[in-house]
Parts: sequence; structure tokens; C-alpha cells
Amino acid sequence: MIAEILCVGTELLMGQVLNTNAQFISRRLSALGISQYHQTVVGDNAERLEEAYRLALSRADVVITSGGLGPTVDDITKRVAAKVAGKELVLRPEAEQMVRERFQQYHKHMTMNNMSQAMFTEDTILMLNPNGTAPGAIVPMGEGKVVIHLPGPPYELQPMFIDQVEPWLQKRSGQVLVSRYIRIFGMGESEVDQRLQELEMQSNPSLSPYCSLGEVQLRATACAATKEEALALVLPLVDKVKSILGDVVYAVNEDDRGSLAISAVEALKKAGKTVATAESLTGGLISSTMVEVPGASQVVRGGFVTYQTDTKTILLGVPAETIERCNVVSAEVAMAMAKGAREKLGTDIAVSATGLAGPDGGTPEIPVGTVYLGLATQKGVQAIRLDLAGNRDRIRTLTVKHALDAVRKACLDN
Ligand code: AMP
Ligand code: MG
Repeated sequence: MIAEILCVGTELLMGQVLNTNAQFISRRLSALGISQYHQTVVGDNAERLEEAYRLALSRADVVITSGGLGPTVDDITKRVAAKVAGKELVLRPEAEQMVRERFQQYHKHMTMNNMSQAMFTEDTILMLNPNGTAPGAIVPMGEGKVVIHLPGPPYELQPMFIDQVEPWLQKRSGQVLVSRYIRIFGMGESEVDQRLQELEMQSNPSLSPYCSLGEVQLRATACAATKEEALALVLPLVDKVKSILGDVVYAVNEDDRGSLAISAVEALKKAGKTVATAESLTGGLISSTMVEVPGASQVVRGGFVTYQTDTKTILLGVPAETIERCNVVSAEVAMAMAKGAREKLGTDIAVSATGLAGPDGGTPEIPVGTVYLGLATQKGVQAIRLDLAGNRDRIRTLTVKHALDAVRKACLDN
């Protein structure tokens, strides 16, 4: 099955709204094993939209639209699709019911033009929209092809896609696709690739790598008539990868939403430990990234943002003499920061970071990208030196990832 995404909205062409719907749908389609060869963005213009539909339908089985289901005159997505299908839009009573219910729920007054949201071709399959007024739709276009209309707002589109479109797509394709996402930190892409070369050659189950900053993600996927059969293909592959790569594999998830922060918080919970942070170059980002994870309050006790040199002494008790003697970017200062944070907040673990994010301030001895993490646990205090490359943003982000990984690992070895 080949799918194609068609996003409708002049605001997308003008750069006012980032096209996150295309990214979301693409990720979900690829997880389902559905191929996509083209994507289109078109403004709220009937002529160009019609052209876009015809082209998309000439090369895909399923064309998925986002946007343009509203009640205003610029919302033309359904009308133009109906024209391409050679059919009329009619008021569908089930759809009218859906729209009315939503207005009642929101205690909003319904205007006449809202009825346009209940107009569909006679053979359209309607999709309930629990988060907005516009129902979604699966519209037969002839020759076994369909157009799927989704509302523009991402909080409406995403649940509709997951709960209603995906089951429909799976049923239609007649097979079940199961994936596991293997997340790796601390081993470069080329090394991962080299070690897994043989496994990456096979096709069902298949293994495909994907890289993001400092991380490698592998998707293990298998296709079969039932979920059980697909799992029986995927799970042994996951085990094989884990045994080849070792403890750089920090998570295996059923979807691609895992992160180092989630794994660090989970590891803390599992070990029954608390953590504190002491941050210089990351300015609170380590702590903030952990706090993004729901339930972090159980394990993240608090932290210190000690950005200027003397604040490390004032807030964390790092001896001024140590800073003077060793440099503020040093293993000694990182360790003293972690030790100070752990003592002040009485946690099991404390992680600290001091380093040079640049672009200025580098010296031959301490170039930009030099970062020391400190890790204080009940076993003692240690420093980890990182030599990071790249711009300020990259150096700070990578520092956060290394710090989270250090916290995760500290929970594993008791
Ligand atoms: P519409 O249904 O076309 O009126 O779109 C409603 C709102 O949904 C727009 O104002 C945007 O904020 C949002 N939206 C529409 N299309 C997209 C898209 N492709 N990606 C992200 N947001 C979108
Ligand atoms: Mg629009």
C-alpha cells in the first residue's frame, strides 16, 4: 500500500505554522510499514488543490489530507475531493449529530455555516472527532483508492489518526506489523552499523537505524498474519541486538517516544533513589529535561544553577581554592559540585556539569567542548570528562544526554 500526505493551508506555505502533521503522520505510516514516496503542501486554493489531488491519486492508494475541514469559505478540502471523485456533498445526519454534540459539549452557539462540517459524499466513512467539531472522513475515490480527511489542529488529528485511521489501514492491508524501538547512547552510528551489519541485511524481521544527536535508534520490524507471529519474529532479533551491543542499549520501547530522560527517571524509580543536579553550562537543562517526564517528582529532588564561578562556592560550597588551583572547568570542580549538591539536598545521587560551551573562551589546554560531569553516589564521587564537538547548542544538549545516561547507569550498579 502506498500513501501520500497532502497538507492544506496557506499558513503552512507562509511559514506561519510548522507542518508537524506531516511529520506525525509520516512517522506513524512508516511504523505501519506503509510506503510514502511524495508529500505535498498546498494553499487554500481550489484549483491548485484539485491538481494536487489528481497527482497524488495517480501515484498513491491512500491520500491523507490535513486541514481545511473548518466551516469558513477557505475550508475547501472536502469539497474539492468530492469534485475529483465526481460526487456531491450532502448533509449526513450522523455527521450533523456529531457536530451538534460537540457544540453542546462546548456550550457554544452553532451558526449555519457549521453545517458545512456535516457535509460529506454519500459513501464516505465518517470518523468521530472527540476533540473538535469537524468529523474526519474516509472517502472512496474509485479504483479502490481513498482520500482520508483529518482536521488541522494536531491535538485533533493525532488521536483520530491513532484510534481510527491506523486500525482501518491495518485491516485493509490484511497483515499485522509489529515494531520495537531500540535506543542506544554511547556508541556511534558507524560502530553500531558495523556490529549489526549482518542483521541489517535481513528483511522480515528487518532492522533499520536512525540517528539523532548523540543517539542511535534501531527499529526492529516484522510483518505477519497475527500479532503473535510478528512478535515471535521481532523479539529474538531484539535480544540478539542487545547481546551484541551491551549496555549502550538504554531502552527497548513499543513506540518511538522513549528518551534518555524517561529511562533515567524510570531507573531512579526502580532503584528507589533520588537525584539532585548542579549545573553550570547547562543552566538547569538537565533538571528541566528530567522534569518533563511525568512522575519525575518522585525522584528528582531539586537542583542548583551555578553559572558564574562564585555561585559554585556560595550555593554548593565548592572551595574557592579548588577553583583557583584547578580551573572552574575541571574534574575537581565537577566532583565538588556533585558532592555539594548531594549533601545539601540529601539525595542518593547527584550529577553535575561544568564545561565550556563556547563559542568564546577556549584555550589550548581547555578547548571549547571540554566538559566535566561529576557523579556523587553513596559509593563516592567521580568525574567523567567529555570532549564534545560542535556549536554551543550541540555541546549543551550532548552534556545533558551524557548526564542523564550517567544517572541511569548509577542506578544500575548498586
Ligand atoms: P484548518 O483546519 O486548516 O483551519 O487548520 C486549523 C489549524 O490547525 C491551523 O490554524 C494550524 O494551527 C493547525 N494546522 C493546520 N495544518 C497543520 C499542519 N500541517 N501541521 C501543524 N498544524 C497544522
Ligand atoms: Mg486552513
